[in-house]
Amino acid sequence: MQTKLTSILQEAKDQLAAATTPAETEEVRVRLLGKKGQLTEILRSMGSLDPEERKVLGQVANSVRSQIESLLEDKFTQVKNAEKDARFRAERIDVTEPGKQRPLGTKHPISITIDEISRVFMSMGYSIAEGPEIETVYFNFDALNAAPNHPSRDMTDTFYIDDEILLRTQTSPVQARTLLKQKPPIKIISPGRCFRVDTPDATHSPMFHQVEGLLVDEGVSMTDLKGTLDSFAKQLFGSDVKTNFRPHFFPFTEPSAEMDVSCFKCGGKGCRVCKGSGWIEILGCGMVHPHVLEVGGIDTEKYTGFAFGMGVERIAMLKYGVDDIRLFYENDMRFIEQFK
Ligand SMILES: [Zn+2]
Repeated sequence: MQTKLTSILQEAKDQLAAATTPAETEEVRVRLLGKKGQLTEILRSMGSLDPEERKVLGQVANSVRSQIESLLEDKFTQVKNAEKDARFRAERIDVTEPGKQRPLGTKHPISITIDEISRVFMSMGYSIAEGPEIETVYFNFDALNAAPNHPSRDMTDTFYIDDEILLRTQTSPVQARTLLKQKPPIKIISPGRCFRVDTPDATHSPMFHQVEGLLVDEGVSMTDLKGTLDSFAKQLFGSDVKTNFRPHFFPFTEPSAEMDVSCFKCGGKGCRVCKGSGWIEILGCGMVHPHVLEVGGIDTEKYTGFAFGMGVERIAMLKYGVDDIRLFYENDMRFIEQFK
């Protein structure tokens, strides 16, 4: 038995010399000192020896055990330190290495323009209303007084999903929805995406953006409309621009007008931007048609309102001198980055 104890001690030394990680060291410990370890079994079997023999062998066994324990302790310290060193080496930071550049994005010119328009109207107390881009024929046309034979309802102008659902051709359905939901006073603008069947060219895109506005309250007149939109034009294009209202027709307003601003490039003398006329058409507007208010459940004896709508791309093109609408959607960073 004594020989066996000596060989276990030697085995422990050999195995520990070969171990290089804490896990391997632990394996050696379990093999020798674990519940079913070699040394544990010997110690357990000593109960069957006679007392004299047990005394002698017991001393040897205990000495072997404490030697192995101290060997294990040393080894654990050694391999744990080695592991720590290796980790430090692996995680070392090279402070001289050049940093990685993270390119910073910029706002899209269309978003910038929508933000600018929104800021002007929000400063006048308007809030922002949004609605679905996939709209019902009812809200897109019927509720807005567009007669069943109105040309814009044609299949060749509008993206229909089925007989009753379409991609909205304007943001006006948001106005119809707001009229049903809110009681006057109503003061909203609705910026958003619209869709019309169009072959893309320098000035047309099947997808584009509008900002529309609606104000309904007691005693609202054409004077309020003109004052509001004149103030808007001055805040967006500069305090010295003049505005001009020309009679026009829209199904959902009566009377209706188009608003021009004096050319902010040439000051009205005539240039390429204003095509020599000195004026630039900016938006459509008018007093909300009583029928549209009635559909929205508004008492037309008590309330009147005005509405307006403008194309965001057109305003962005004019403001930034962009000559092709397709540039907005090509996602060419060289174009977008100019608006930083
Ligand atoms: Zn001009």
